[in-house]
Formats: sequence, structure tokens, C-alpha cells
Amino acid sequence: MTQNLIHRNRALCFVLIIYVLLFCFPRRLFARNLPEEYTTRNITETIEVSNATRHDFSRLVDVQVGSHVSGVSELKRYLHRFGYVKDDGSKNFSDVFDGRLESAISLYQQNLGLPITGRLDTSTVALMSSPRCGVSDTHMINNGMHVTARFTYFGGKPKWNRDSLTYAFSETHRLDYLTSDDVKMVFRRAFGRWASVIPVSFKEVDDYKTANLKIAFFAGDHGDGHPFDGVLGTLAHAFAPKNGRVHLDAAETWVVNGDFGSTVAVDLESVATHEIGHLLGLGHSSHESAVMYPTLPPRTKKVDLTVDDVAGVLRLYGANPKLRLDSLTQLKDSLANGGVSERFLSGNVTGYALLVVLILFV
Ligand SMILES: [Zn+2]
Ligand SMILES: [Zn+2]
Repeated sequence: MTQNLIHRNRALCFVLIIYVLLFCFPRRLFARNLPEEYTTRNITETIEVSNATRHDFSRLVDVQVGSHVSGVSELKRYLHRFGYVKDDGSKNFSDVFDGRLESAISLYQQNLGLPITGRLDTSTVALMSSPRCGVSDTHMINNGMHVTARFTYFGGKPKWNRDSLTYAFSETHRLDYLTSDDVKMVFRRAFGRWASVIPVSFKEVDDYKTANLKIAFFAGDHGDGHPFDGVLGTLAHAFAPKNGRVHLDAAETWVVNGDFGSTVAVDLESVATHEIGHLLGLGHSSHESAVMYPTLPPRTKKVDLTVDDVAGVLRLYGANPKLRLDSLTQLKDSLANGGVSERFLSGNVTGYALLVVLILFV
């Protein structure tokens, strides 16, 4: 009896913590009242080619509004490429730090969870110089509120209407310095992370042409309007459902075993996990720890789905009945701080169900 009371108290405590976590996210869980321009555009927009393979905007730190500094035009091109500066038709950007650029920087800061200043402070410039996903941020929510955490979807919220998806690797567009077994193992693990939380399974097949999801490595311009840019810069991109294509930049130094010897090494599993999120219909998150955050520094492993990632994908597909919360590192950390025991996490079915219900319906 006493044991039951303890369990019940723990369950109540758990639910309370979840509520606090959810309501601490200023935008809460669901996308509503999105401005037209952020809901109707999607990743099929053409991304402009940049000559620079590694963006280094460090010389622009603390440049003031109204000033004319060499390199500002490159920054405008970068922000245009990822959806923050509108194209005036000429595509000739000036080196003047004007009001439009200030607004674009504010929006970028909002979407990437930075303090919104409209200024080129050190952290903003560092993030703009960091390698990132090639998918434009135009789908990210912007309702003018300060944001610290949030998942997003592509315009129209496309998703797959089936519970099993096949995937295949291109025979012709592959890496010559990694074995296909290693690449396949990495993707198997990455797919497994998403499959553990939603009722969708992924099966590898040989036929690239007929597979639902198609994985290929390309260098430079590869004919889809989203050319890769060499070492670092953009690392990969994927298309919203039900396109199914994911492309990885063959010019990167992809790593599968955590051997980050090279300064430009990029963890394949981290990028694969992120891009699979796009394949399923998730956009970029403004939560820095989320797998769906747009940037990934070199030599970084970031493969564990966070509450933000899981809440986003559950909202699209519902929950896998076998959902195991102990795969959610962020929640584990939060719960640990809140004093809830690991034993509760690993055994309480009611707790799992409550979390799923909360994520789906709050
Ligand atoms: Zn992305
Ligand atoms: Zn591509």
C-alpha cells in the first residue's frame, strides 16, 4: 500500500515536471498562427550558390548599422540563401549594413535561439560561420515572440501516410573512403532512433529507384538546384515528404567511428539523424540541443533525440507503443535535476503513457 502511494506520488511529480518543462518553452508545443510567408514556402526553393566553402564572418563582429564594410554583401548572400533576406531581383547585395540586414539578423537570432539584438555580436557571427544543414530556414516559425525552444514543420506539414518505409543507397554516388557496411550501419542506427519513438519502421532495400527514401553522396552542383559547396559550409540536405531524397556533401571528411583527427571531420551519424528528421517532415528547431537544430560544429557527435525532436515527430506520427523514455537524454537530465529516479523512468508504464498524452494533446 505504502509502495503504491510512493509510486503514485512519483507519477504526480513526474507529470508536474513535464508540465513545467512544456510551459517553459515560450512557444509551447504546436505551430499556430504562422505568417503566410513561413507556412507556404518549402525547401524546394532554389538555394543560391556561394563561392565560399567555409563562411568566416569574424571580421564583421560589431559592425554598426549604417556602416559600409567589405564582407557585408557576402553575409547578405548567406542570409538570403537560408531564407532571411529577400531577393530584390538583382541578387547584387551591397556592403552597406542597412535596416533590412538588421531585421534579418534579428530573425536569424530568433530562429536559432540566440538573444535577439539585431547586432553582429560574437555568438551570432560564430554561429553563422559554423557548418550547417543546407535546408533553408524559411519554414521556421516567426510570430514575433522571443523564442528559446521549438520544433517546426515544412509548409503544409507534409508527412508519410504509411507505417513502413524502405530506404536504399545510391550505387553510383557513394564515398570511396568509407566502406558501404560502415555507412549502412550508421544509417541503420540513425533510422532506429526515430523508429523507436514513432510507429514507423524502416527497411533497407537494394533497389535505389523504387525505395521510398534515397541516400546519396554528391559533390558540387548535382542537378537539384541545391549545389554543395565543398569542405564544411553546408553538409547535407534532405527533402520534405514525400520526396524521400537525402543528399550528403561528398567533399566532407565524414567520420563513422568517432575518430575526429581532422579539424574538418564531420560525424556522419549526427548528420544522418538530422536529415532523417527532414525526410519524416520535421523542419529546423530553434532549440540548440535538438538534433533538428540547423548547425553542427565539426568533430561533434549529436545523435540523441531530445524532447523537442520527439515532441515534433510524435505530433506528426503518434507514438510508438514501445517508446522508451530513457532514450531521451534531455528529459533524463531534466528529471535527474528534478529528483525523479531512474527506476521510475525504466519501469513505469503509466508514466510513459502520461508523457505521450501530454505531448500529443497539451
Ligand atoms: Zn536541416
Ligand atoms: Zn541535393
